[in-house]
Amino acid sequence: MSTSADLPPDVRRIVVVGAGECGTHAAMALRDKGFGGEITLIGRESVHAYERPPLSKGALAVDEMALVHPWTPEQLAEADIDLRLGVEVTHIDLAAGTVTTSAGPQDAGEVVPWDRLLLALGSDPRRLELDEVTYLRTHEDAEALRALLRPEGHLLVVGAGFIGLEIAAGARERGMDVTVVEAGPRVLGRIVPEEVAAQVSALHDAHGVSLRVATTVTGLRRDGGRLYATLSDGEELVVDAVVAGVGATPTTLLAEAAGLVVDDGIVVDAALRTSDPRVFAAGDCASFPDARSGGRVRLESWRNAHDQAVTAAASMLGQGEPHAAVPWFWSDQYDQMLSVAGLPGTGQRSVLRHRDDGVLLHLGLDAQDRLVHAAAVGPGASVAKDIRVAEKLIAAAVPLDPAQLTDPGVPLRSILKAAIT
Ligand SMILES: Cc1cc2nc3c(=O)[nH]c(=O)nc-3n(C[C@H](O)[C@H](O)[C@H](O)COP(=O)(O)OP(=O)(O)OC[C@H]3O[C@@H](n4cnc5c(N)ncnc54)[C@H](O)[C@@H]3O)c2cc1C
Repeated sequence: MSTSADLPPDVRRIVVVGAGECGTHAAMALRDKGFGGEITLIGRESVHAYERPPLSKGALAVDEMALVHPWTPEQLAEADIDLRLGVEVTHIDLAAGTVTTSAGPQDAGEVVPWDRLLLALGSDPRRLELDEVTYLRTHEDAEALRALLRPEGHLLVVGAGFIGLEIAAGARERGMDVTVVEAGPRVLGRIVPEEVAAQVSALHDAHGVSLRVATTVTGLRRDGGRLYATLSDGEELVVDAVVAGVGATPTTLLAEAAGLVVDDGIVVDAALRTSDPRVFAAGDCASFPDARSGGRVRLESWRNAHDQAVTAAASMLGQGEPHAAVPWFWSDQYDQMLSVAGLPGTGQRSVLRHRDDGVLLHLGLDAQDRLVHAAAVGPGASVAKDIRVAEKLIAAAVPLDPAQLTDPGVPLRSILKAAIT
């Protein structure tokens, strides 16, 4: 922890916009780092921060949905964080150093001044040009989706990304017939390599999901209590509900209107500073430079929201280290885990490692045989262990022997030990 003497004297008021995963962790991290000034945390949802990952997993399977909160309101109050929920920030004035909120006398809005501003605005589900489609982002969306999951019913899921497939698994577990249509040639096209995707497809086949790739929904009409979905191959499906998981777009309008640079996300540097040096962005809404690939990336992942919260808090206090965490992501489907470390598509060659317990690990290497990406599917505990080691191998950035990597008889841990000593 820093002492207050280390902290910049010109920073007395910090406003965090977005009281979700990233914004709330950043507010708490500011206190952990010794910031004693005012922290105002403003969120448009009416509930304090909750974990979104369970919404497409456990929450679909249980009878009563309980939100998982990383912090209680009491903990936030103890940390002297001024939490304002159900309040939207409608305007940022960079020249004046203020935000305007939707709360205030006669809806005139309240003006809140800041010395440093953090935008942790998240992302919004991409929408189809079809009525009657449900989406999943918030706890309210999850409640609405749960109400549609009825045993014996038929759910149509549009999009075979991780959210679509998790919903498909949850709906099967609730006894529904499930059809998944995916516009691309395979499932999880943006997230994992083909071999891992094939194992995930087989998992869903085995659980009775009808998976239809290279297929879209071209029309949807309601007749009585049923929905009639026309598919691009001309077939008509009769279903009870349609839910789409077709990606998300970063929430950037506020930043754009303020004049900050935006390009598929609020553009930040390695310290998560936007084009205005007093304003920072982190989490799903931020596009940041990835030191390993040399490219610019935007991640929609729980771990990234946490890691960037800490980096942003340090940067706002002038203690910033460049954001260098290895990207990490996981998904649970049925009794299996899918996990990824590093950035998909950055390897120049790949090797596969098949473990006896059914884990398939795909490892992407660069031209110097350094590990840059790993994706695994299989029983959760083994996948988690392998990916944890893979993360460290990616961070170590040393050439590896591809023959050893493919041999399940050579423990990944011993490869790591040899690599870092
Ligand atoms: C259903 C679901 C399942 C997921 N599962 C996984 C998983 O298995 N693994 C994984 O790694 N990741 C998963 N994720 C992704 C992960 O939850 C997100 O990456 C993470 O929540 C991002 O945190 P964030 O703070 O950037 O955004 P959010 O948590 O979305 O928080 C942003 C907040 O800002 C608020 N806001 C936006 N604009 C304003 C404004 N103008 N004024 C005030 N408030 C505003 C929003 O309402 C929102 O509450 C999942 C996401 C969803 C939706």
